[in-house]
Amino acid sequence: MASRFVERSAAFFPHLWTLISRPFLFLWTRLLRKGSFDSPRLPEARVIPRDQHTISRKDISRAALNVLYGLHKGGFEAYLVGGCLRDLLCGRQPKDFDVVTDATPDEVHRLFKRSRIIGRRFQIVHVRFGREIIEVSTFRAFQRDDMNDDQHLAHEETGLVLRDNAWGSIEEDALRRDFTVNALYYNIADFALYDFVQSRRDIERGVLRLIGDPEQRYREDPVRMLRAARFAAKLGFEPDRATAEPIPRLAELLLQVPPARLFDEVLKLFLSGHARASYQELRELGLFPFLFPETDLCLQGDQGETWEAMILAAMDNTDARLAEDKPVTPAFILAVLLWPVVTARLDKYRADGVPPAPALHKAASWALDQQIQHTAVPRRFSTVMREMWDLQQRLPRRGGKRADTLLQHPRFRAAYDFLLLREQAGEIRAGLGAWWTRYQQVDEQERYAMTQALGPNQGAGGDGGGNNGGGRRRRRRRGGRSSSSNQG
Ligand code: ATP
Ligand code: MG
Repeated sequence: MASRFVERSAAFFPHLWTLISRPFLFLWTRLLRKGSFDSPRLPEARVIPRDQHTISRKDISRAALNVLYGLHKGGFEAYLVGGCLRDLLCGRQPKDFDVVTDATPDEVHRLFKRSRIIGRRFQIVHVRFGREIIEVSTFRAFQRDDMNDDQHLAHEETGLVLRDNAWGSIEEDALRRDFTVNALYYNIADFALYDFVQSRRDIERGVLRLIGDPEQRYREDPVRMLRAARFAAKLGFEPDRATAEPIPRLAELLLQVPPARLFDEVLKLFLSGHARASYQELRELGLFPFLFPETDLCLQGDQGETWEAMILAAMDNTDARLAEDKPVTPAFILAVLLWPVVTARLDKYRADGVPPAPALHKAASWALDQQIQHTAVPRRFSTVMREMWDLQQRLPRRGGKRADTLLQHPRFRAAYDFLLLREQAGEIRAGLGAWWTRYQQVDEQERYAMTQALGPNQGAGGDGGGNNGGGRRRRRRRGGRSSSSNQG
């Protein structure tokens, strides 16, 4: 009935019909292009010419310059973008250089012999120059469900893949980035900076400001909350009020993020040289309970102060090692973060009458099973963590040949460092750590004398307090006894 009326009126008033339908057509094409009616208004670039900024080609890696020039010669636009410019403007060494272009991944791939297209839903290109890999992305359109590639990857694993290479303009690309400080562009054509969202001002002022409506952007991708904590810690930037305010309220959205992606973020938070600051940001913003819920419960318990001291000591230790270019492993920091959970469970199983070694084994499994529901813990790390925990029970038993056997254990060094942290935090009495420190320093004769001096009890494996399996945990005691029965 209605459609017949429409047909008839269209036949009678062709011009009127065109007039009426045009706005609908316009809205419909916009909807098709953007996937939404309320697409944001595109910003205009403020161009900062070369003589008004400090980014110099001297500071850019050879590989990145090669890619930029290669694209430019190929007739495409080519920009450095994001973290590298932010870091350079802050006087820091960038971790890597990211390039964006209007060339499609196929076009990029054709330009560079040693390149590879990666990703399925959003394709990007890795271009290799020597040992360096430059990531080249095509300008991406702003979308409602703008999640990170890794999150899409998780969808891919479940088979729900839709190729979604929605290429856009540089303006759209700028709007889909997370923080203003990560959205600056350096154009290889004129060496100018292109600033769409007051990026330079915020970098200079040290302000972390989410682009767009913060709550909406966190809902689209909750990992942005962790990125806020990480950049605040790494750069010492202050999140502005609108950026910080929704975080405690929305923190629980992290429960929806695939554990593998959260594990990657945890590595970036704790193994980039600013672990202590990251931990403190996570706690202040209320994010920590959604990454390490069981640990958080322990931090609220009556031993909370001790656990906090131990975690902070581990973070300091990791930061110091990185500052000296020493190797670090996620296993160590994760072993510390989950140790409160392990010991609480261990106490429970011991109280139920389970012998120390199997009780520890069960407690370790329980703690890991809980944790992997939140952040993945790849087996290559959990195996090491278990060994470190296991050695905590074995380090007090040093009699006879045991000390030498322990010293040969591939995890001895990590377990010894772990033991020192436990003592430093006051979880256990100090003493055993000093014994092991000395044992490593002296010659064979002296070692023999040390193990002899332990007496029959410890030689057989009895232990007073250095061991959670048999010993009792104590509340932290400032300036407490410095030696103990562990020293023999
Ligand atoms: P880092 O020093 O840690 O490498 P970065 O800013 O380079 O910092 P990356 O994770 O390498 O961070 O991401 C590169 C760029 O991609 C960022 O600068 C940002 O513009 C954009 N980006 C990354 N993750 C997101 C996200 N979850 N949402 C929106 N934009 C993102
Ligand atoms: Mg980066």
